[in-house]
Amino acid sequence: MSSTGPARPDLSRREMECPSCGKKSFLVELTAEDIQRVRPPTVGMVCEGCREKYRSAARLEIRYSTQTALRDLALVVLVGVSLLLLVLDALSTRLAVSVGPSNVSFFVTAATSLTGLRMMYSELRGRYGFTHSLSWSLHSRYAILSIAILVSGILAAAVSPFIIR
Ligand SMILES: [Zn+2]
Repeated sequence: MSSTGPARPDLSRREMECPSCGKKSFLVELTAEDIQRVRPPTVGMVCEGCREKYRSAARLEIRYSTQTALRDLALVVLVGVSLLLLVLDALSTRLAVSVGPSNVSFFVTAATSLTGLRMMYSELRGRYGFTHSLSWSLHSRYAILSIAILVSGILAAAVSPFIIR
């Protein structure tokens, strides 16, 4: 009779769900050194892609340049405001009789700004909470997009009374 018994499955080489991104992958250990902290991170095992992400975040590498960020911001705000004004114009002619154009404008722009705010909160909560670097946190396409949506809502609300009657 063998004394070793049935071989135990090697847990370290089994595909598991990454707690960070949710994808099934072989997980690797995320150490305190990886995130440049004294204490080990709360998530112990992540996939290799996420470990790279955490490492580059810890080094506060900026891969999205300020120039690109500002250009994207301006572009999205321009498109956002134009689209909102078009939508408001279309809605106000249909709904103005029953609810009034200022109410239509308020609902649409407030909904837009709140969406942007919610996106910004969910993106920055993770990025800023992890690094405490606001500058690095803002250098993200998603963060810029959310700010642009927030600003578009505010700008459209400000100019719509002069444009839509
Ligand atoms: Zn992952």
